Amino acid sequence: MATCSHLDSVEILELPDPVAGCEECLATGAQWVHLRMCQTCGHIGCCDNSPGRHATAHNAETHHPIIRSAEPGEQWSFCYEDELMFRLRPS
Ligand SMILES: [Zn+2]
Ligand SMILES: [Zn+2]
Ligand SMILES: [Zn+2]
Repeated sequence: MATCSHLDSVEILELPDPVAGCEECLATGAQWVHLRMCQTCGHIGCCDNSPGRHATAHNAETHHPIIRSAEPGEQWSFCYEDELMFRLRPS
């Protein structure tokens, strides 16, 4: 089974409370669909179904590899480098 080799870059497991929203969309007044959090620096960005795709844009800009869902009840993480979905901790 393929495994992610970027777990060293994970600094943040837990979501902020509350999750304010996509940082870029809030700045421009844009709408988002779902939220994702960068697990290296805590950046909150919107998903690829959102017009801004700011989570992916953050990865392209910073090369921070791993995001997690910032949606209520969703625990999954995703590595852009490996294109792998996984859970970092059992809930
Ligand atoms: Zn990885
Ligand atoms: Zn956004
Ligand atoms: Zn980041």
